[in-house]
Amino acid sequence: MVAHRGRSQKRQASACSAPSTGSSGAEAGVESGIPTLAGPMPVEHFDVLIVGAGLSGVDAAHHLQALCPGKSYAILEQRERVGGTWDLFRYPGIRSDSDMLTMGYSFRPWTSPRTISPGAEIREYIEATAREEGIDRNVRFRHAVARASWSSREARWNVEGTRRAPDGREEPFALTCGFLLSCAGYYRYSAGYTPELPGLERFAGRVVHPQAWPEDLDHAGKRVVVVGSGATAVTLVPAMAKTAAHVTMLQRSPTWVVSMPGRDGVASALRAVLPGTWAYRLGRWKNVALQTALYQAARRFPRLTGNGLLRQARRELGPDVDVAAHFTPRYPPWEQRLCLVPDGDLFAALRERRASVVTGTIETFTENGIRLASGEVLEADVVVTATGLVMQPLGGVELEVDGGVVDPGTRLSYKGVMLSGVPNLAAVFGYVNASWTLKADLVCAWVCRLLNHMDRRGALQVTPTSRGDGPAAPFVEGFTPGYVRRALALWPKQGRRAPWRVHQSYFRDAVSLGWGRIDDGALVFSSPEPSAAPGDRVE
Ligand SMILES: Cc1cc2nc3c(=O)[nH]c(=O)nc-3n(C[C@H](O)[C@H](O)[C@H](O)COP(=O)(O)OP(=O)(O)OC[C@H]3O[C@@H](n4cnc5c(N)ncnc54)[C@H](O)[C@@H]3O)c2cc1C
Repeated sequence: MVAHRGRSQKRQASACSAPSTGSSGAEAGVESGIPTLAGPMPVEHFDVLIVGAGLSGVDAAHHLQALCPGKSYAILEQRERVGGTWDLFRYPGIRSDSDMLTMGYSFRPWTSPRTISPGAEIREYIEATAREEGIDRNVRFRHAVARASWSSREARWNVEGTRRAPDGREEPFALTCGFLLSCAGYYRYSAGYTPELPGLERFAGRVVHPQAWPEDLDHAGKRVVVVGSGATAVTLVPAMAKTAAHVTMLQRSPTWVVSMPGRDGVASALRAVLPGTWAYRLGRWKNVALQTALYQAARRFPRLTGNGLLRQARRELGPDVDVAAHFTPRYPPWEQRLCLVPDGDLFAALRERRASVVTGTIETFTENGIRLASGEVLEADVVVTATGLVMQPLGGVELEVDGGVVDPGTRLSYKGVMLSGVPNLAAVFGYVNASWTLKADLVCAWVCRLLNHMDRRGALQVTPTSRGDGPAAPFVEGFTPGYVRRALALWPKQGRRAPWRVHQSYFRDAVSLGWGRIDDGALVFSSPEPSAAPGDRVE
């Protein structure tokens, strides 16, 4: 009964026959049932379950379909649409701050001339990928995963959560799978981060967080204060300044800002003379190389890079904006993500006085606005708290392995993809210094290589096992924005040596994940014995 159940069920559960939303659709693998509003729900089994239908989840499904065509899979998505971040965030001006040649998938050319892209176009690109490849048929929307428990005896994950019917009723669901691939992003979806804001309750105007932008908010003709200085704030300020009476960006301390063209001339020229796929590939590699070179230069020559950025800011802003006070951070460039402004839109809004920037500390909110510690008062009708995200590993899913609770913060990260001591689980976490998709593509292709390797070996279980290596560094090093500092304890740690290091380098990962041996000694392959007692395994 126990042994090799994953394999036998694999033949029964077909991803293609799986219904798309909400229904159990479970002719396969009915073994036990959990009570639901509509009666007992049978437990379905998949070879792979993907958590999340954002950029990475669709990437993962594409790779599974292309490289592991025999595997059944489903995507569990808590929301009602694909797109993740690019569907959730709806604030004015929402756009990428990476170029879309590297933010696009390796397998699907980005064809718009805009390489710094509006969020809606990114959402359409992800949706079109899911639709045209038939991936959307395998997404179970409104399925929020809460727990996953691994059983070594059965070599499978039991995945549980809550699903929401279109009428809002909620009920539990349970599925099993041989491999769990977390594409749940890196932050909490339910609410963004808002720090203690003294006196906020006294403010008579409207307060909004960019993560929950109200559809009915009309800021035209209003005085707006945007609290924050990160990527979201520098996007919002010029966008809102188009119609607002005035927009003030209120920052506690400055951030490095760089202006880049919103369109890529080289990419357009390549598209004009080469077939689309080749133009995209070349443009992508050009940008990977450029990004890597600029990042390395900034880390090696921080003063030179900083001076270059300040020169650009002075040139763009003119004499009326105090660059030393508002655009000269205390940290070196790239210790936090560099804020990109396409075609200098932020600088133009400031130069044309449709917006202004104030650096200071909030003493208290008043009925009409914000009073700063300096005594200055900023009057406002609308305050936007662009104060960031709450980072959350693995979509908040609680993990258990053979009855023991797993705290990811106490585990080592294997190649930035798996967790030490946790079988058959991989997660996508992109780069902090380059486009997320570059890493997502590599991880998804590597997971497929791993699954095919396991099939060839006849192994049902793979467990990253560190022999002697212990935690030596946080998951991300030398990168210190507040949202990362607040959450690093929850993330797995790096060891001293490969494969327990997490590189923020596409080239190194392309070698390690693309070409490195799967059977590297750190991955232990096993299967339950046909008549194994609980916990017994053969290696
Ligand atoms: C405003 C903003 C701008 C950004 N701009 C860039 C950029 O320009 N370049 C860049 O490289 N990166 C950027 N990022 C990072 C961005 O998140 C990635 O680019 C990319 O969208 C991540 O894709 P993902 O699919 O891994 O995660 P997400 O887009 O976060 O998608 C995760 C999906 O998983 C679902 N999910 C989560 N938990 C569960 C659960 N427990 N059960 C079921 N479903 C679950 C979510 O609902 C969501 O649909 C930006 C992030 C933000 C917030």
